[in-house]
Amino acid sequence: MARSLLVTGAAGFIGANFVHYWRAQHPGDRIVAYDALTYAGNRANLEGLEGTEGFTFVHADICDKAAVIACLREHQVDTLVHFAAESHVDRSITGPDAFIETNVVGTHSLLQAAREYWLGGAEPLPHRFHHVSTDEVYGSLAPDAPGFYEEQKYEPNSPYSASKAASDHLVRAYLHTYGLQVSTSNCSNNYGPYHFPEKLIPLCLTNILRGLPLPVYGDGSNIRDWLYVEDHCRGIEKVILDGVVGETYNIGGNNEWNNLDIVNLLCEQLDARFAADASLAARFPDAPQAAGKSARDLITFVEDRAGHDWRYAIDASKISGELGYSPAENFETGLAKTLDWYLDNEDWWRPLLNR
Ligand code: NAD
Repeated sequence: MARSLLVTGAAGFIGANFVHYWRAQHPGDRIVAYDALTYAGNRANLEGLEGTEGFTFVHADICDKAAVIACLREHQVDTLVHFAAESHVDRSITGPDAFIETNVVGTHSLLQAAREYWLGGAEPLPHRFHHVSTDEVYGSLAPDAPGFYEEQKYEPNSPYSASKAASDHLVRAYLHTYGLQVSTSNCSNNYGPYHFPEKLIPLCLTNILRGLPLPVYGDGSNIRDWLYVEDHCRGIEKVILDGVVGETYNIGGNNEWNNLDIVNLLCEQLDARFAADASLAARFPDAPQAAGKSARDLITFVEDRAGHDWRYAIDASKISGELGYSPAENFETGLAKTLDWYLDNEDWWRPLLNR
């Protein structure tokens, strides 16, 4: 049976990838892409979808409960996938208010709207509210500690992760208190197309191509698990279709890297591209490779981020064992696709650089 989805944050990095992915996998489903278009939202991310049958873009805030209810009603939505958030840890350190407003108050407003529409009538309507969250809610891991598992204690350390932790708890509370049919997934760091160039991988790629420094926090030893964004979308799809209501699923790539090694790898891969393709030097004359140098020359160590968590890692055995999930891309293939995408889509990333 065809579904009707409302996807919040659909013009952002993961939301847009999810909408493209879902449309390809479930072409008969209707999709409402709901987004306030903050600095991180970009309608260009939805290119190819706008104007197509069964796709609607709604420019509105998740804090606007009446607008959400109107959308749920108009499109008879049965599946809400919640990506909308303030997502950048550094911005949460300098300006936490927006994180509380969108991630906490906004998520609560969305839950209230969902409850009113789906549970407010004489009979509940069939529905699923899927909440997309982060592994950062669990805090920081010691070097030899096992990866985060679903029952792990929450120990958020940044205003971003604390606001996401609060939203996770509100989602859980709406199941236990009101019976809203919720699920949650907590995922590690994503990378891939449409990634806003303030985040580590696209920042480094776009800085190399412009000959700008590659800032590495502290000594570069902080470790993250990395997952290709489409693999995250596939994990969310599994949870929506087969996951148990009320459960949380951790999604990860079994792919831990420290920041300095990632930056070195990106330099190495772009150096190789320039060596293999002379036209790149003409297209990106400011890149160090155009002058016969390595991108590594641009690496610059900067003062560490305040409260910087040292290590995140995911134990994804629940989603792989119960739902048969495994990532399709390894880091090499995922990174190669990402690099190609940024080299081919300069028109997408250039206008975002001064936002
Ligand atoms: P993003 O910053 O790229 O996109 C967020 C989107 O939400 C933007 O389009 C923005 O316009 C929209 N938005 C912000 N405030 C809004 C509001 N009040 N109302 C409506 N729309 C609003 O973020 P992302 O990286 O795509 O992350 C999406 C979700 O996935 C977030 O909830 C994030 O916590 C979670 N997550 C991200 C990662 C990652 O590596 N990026 C990893 C795990 C989980």
